[in-house]
Amino acid sequence: MHRNEEIDQLTGLPNLYSFRKEAQKLMDSRKNREREFVIIYFDIQNFKSYNARYGFEAGDRFLQNIAKHISKIFPELMVARFSDDHFVVLAYYDSIESRIDDLGRRVKSYNPDAGVDLRAGIYEIDPDDMDISIACDRARIACNSIKKNYDSIFRYYDKELGIQLELAHYIIHNIGDAVLHGYIQVYYQPVVRVITGRVCGFEALARWVDPVHGFLMPGVFIPILEDAHLIYKLDSYIIRQVCQDIKELMDMGLKPHPVSVNLSRTDFHQKDMYRVVNDAVGMFNIPKNLIHVEVTESALDDNQDVLKGTIDKFRRGGYQVWMDDFGSGYSSLNLLKDYEFDVLKFDMKFLQNFGSNPKETAIWENVINMAEEIGIQTLAEGVETIEAWDFLKRVGCEKAQGYFFGRPMTKEECLDYLDECKEITRQSVAEKDEEALDHNKKIIELKKEDDDPAEEERIGSIDDELFMAESPVYLTLAARGFVSLLEYNSYSQFQKHSFFIVANLSQNKLLRLHLSSKRKILDKAYYSDESYQNMIDEIVQNTVIQDEQENVADFFGKDRLILAYHSGITSDEIEFHRIVDKKMAPRWTHTIYQVMEDKGDLIGYFLSFDIDEYKRSKDLVRQMAERDSLTGLYNRHTAVPLIRNRLYRHQHGQSALIMADIDDFRRINDSYGHFAGDEVLRRISARLDDIFGRDGIVCHLDQDEFLIFVENIDEDNLKSRIDTLCENIFEVNYHNDKISFTISAGFVIHPDQGRGYHDLFRKADMALGDAKKKGKGMGLQFNEQ
Ligand code: C2E
Ligand code: MG
Ligand code: MG
Repeated sequence: MHRNEEIDQLTGLPNLYSFRKEAQKLMDSRKNREREFVIIYFDIQNFKSYNARYGFEAGDRFLQNIAKHISKIFPELMVARFSDDHFVVLAYYDSIESRIDDLGRRVKSYNPDAGVDLRAGIYEIDPDDMDISIACDRARIACNSIKKNYDSIFRYYDKELGIQLELAHYIIHNIGDAVLHGYIQVYYQPVVRVITGRVCGFEALARWVDPVHGFLMPGVFIPILEDAHLIYKLDSYIIRQVCQDIKELMDMGLKPHPVSVNLSRTDFHQKDMYRVVNDAVGMFNIPKNLIHVEVTESALDDNQDVLKGTIDKFRRGGYQVWMDDFGSGYSSLNLLKDYEFDVLKFDMKFLQNFGSNPKETAIWENVINMAEEIGIQTLAEGVETIEAWDFLKRVGCEKAQGYFFGRPMTKEECLDYLDECKEITRQSVAEKDEEALDHNKKIIELKKEDDDPAEEERIGSIDDELFMAESPVYLTLAARGFVSLLEYNSYSQFQKHSFFIVANLSQNKLLRLHLSSKRKILDKAYYSDESYQNMIDEIVQNTVIQDEQENVADFFGKDRLILAYHSGITSDEIEFHRIVDKKMAPRWTHTIYQVMEDKGDLIGYFLSFDIDEYKRSKDLVRQMAERDSLTGLYNRHTAVPLIRNRLYRHQHGQSALIMADIDDFRRINDSYGHFAGDEVLRRISARLDDIFGRDGIVCHLDQDEFLIFVENIDEDNLKSRIDTLCENIFEVNYHNDKISFTISAGFVIHPDQGRGYHDLFRKADMALGDAKKKGKGMGLQFNEQ
């Protein structure tokens, strides 16, 4: 008989304590050792959501039912309930697998909608095994190892798990040291605003760089620390470190972005996390709005007062609280009702097949609307492509995070990254506008609440937009401003270079055609009621350059316009090349249209105007800003951000950063003069462009120095190109002189030899220095020694 304290009250099974005692006795008394024993550890997947969905009473009944089935299927030795949804069996090694499968089916069929599933870990007791606790641990480890596995519902404990177990032991016993010795490092991943793509924050993610086990990802050590209830050590450290990093930036006179830190469920039980955060913030004297806390959805699914209390405390204390991995569990929507959050972070799996079916868009839009309505911001994780970003723009998600914008990186890499984004040194105008907007929003909300009567008398309300649209003076001024920006001298000059066409699209009839007196579209006249489509076909065929005809015809096609109108697109614009005079170059033309409904017909209004001057001066300005005037190569200002961009978006393969330099350039200048020197620079630039320009960024840094970045290149190909450059003697004929010279180069391989731009640049420069020392006319790879 079991005593009361040895019995689990809910199921009537022995508890952990009595199981260990009795099973140890059984183990010790094995005499003839002819029958093999196993320990099986059972876990019910998603039991927490079951409780949340159906209530605790139903959860209890479910557990009682499972207890009954286990006892029936494994009657021979012992069955126990260890905790929550964890059961353990000591059984003979007879048809174990089919019995587990049988139990699995029964668990599932108890409530097929609930999504619960059985997992089992099996440990075969060895004749030499002495300790039942170790045997139970191993069965549990085997069980935990297939938590997220859908291929099989059981697993045996084996060697591989043994190694994992050792690592787990190592992690548990060394977390203190790791924190102390700085093996735990904070990586930062950028968070951006979807509309602008600008950085607006970072998430702190832990990495463990261990002297014995190397680089460990959170997926390895976080679950172990959580299970061991030691995660608070790591998290407390990360929080302090983040505060210290922020403080450092502030001391450097920079304006840091907010950082969100991750908290685990057990943190809240082990420590007063509010105090941990608040103490760190106080110690480093940083503003509270620079630290946000992320709590993962799965931490919330059993109704916990401690957690709720702490979350509320954070919010009252001035910290934002974000819900992480929203949508990964079963009770996501319920949680919104029970807890208060500032931001919802959509789980990565949400973006896995975005746009693949129309329902998806509708779901995103609705969840985002709902969040907005209850005052919660939205953030999507796992944005890996530009298409995913576009999708988020369309559905109105506010923030985003993912490899597309930047991977998690060290503090130093972050500075480089921000430098590229020009975010740190000067707060961007757009951001200021955004802040102003936020501010306005708050004022309006407050006014609404206390119903300020002065509101109606205020000048400058939104209604003024209507006044503006109806005021002819306003429209004339806007038009004049617009045409002068397009570089016309006057409004009437603009009119002379534009067409205005009105057509009834539904009836395919031209209604009006406005041209300046001297201009005709073709050399023919058109009359009202003529076919709109015929006119368009003629115009396109005769006045649009060949390459663009199809596109332009499609744009103006009446069927497309009608279709677009019905799918909500009533206005659009296009730019194309129009042939004005057969003897002259085609000119850039811009067309904008609006379709409106009138007495059941769709009427199209088209305005076309010449923008050739404007385009040309814009191109020129761009050219001048991007290119070096002497060589026509990219200049430093253009090339460096481009290179940084590619480095941060780097996905796979190797890239190279190369510094090249003309040997003894001063001698050329001194003996042949500066014009000769310039000619040498021009020729060698053209050569560099030949060798690397096709797939690389070639930049004239300064004087005789060049910087080249080539992406996705294998080493053989790289070396052969560098040989082409460095192993030849170049000759330039200048007037009567034949100038010969060689080139030296140094290069470094990304990501193998470095990641950040500064680091790579420094190393390429050092390699170049080495090449010069070793005798010039050679290309050397960076070498640590
Ligand atoms: P999380 O908080 O949901 O963090 C996002 C994870 O997604 C990070 O993984 C990040 O590197 C990864 N990720 C970001 N963008 C992309 C993308 O575009 N594609 C893909 N496939 N993945 C992306 P990481 O750093 O391995 O962290 C995993 C989880 O470990 C985190 O998930 C978080 O729950 C936990 N964790 C990390 N650091 C800490 C910490 O300091 N404390 C606690 N308690 N948990 C942490
Ligand atoms: Mg997170
Ligand atoms: Mg997440």
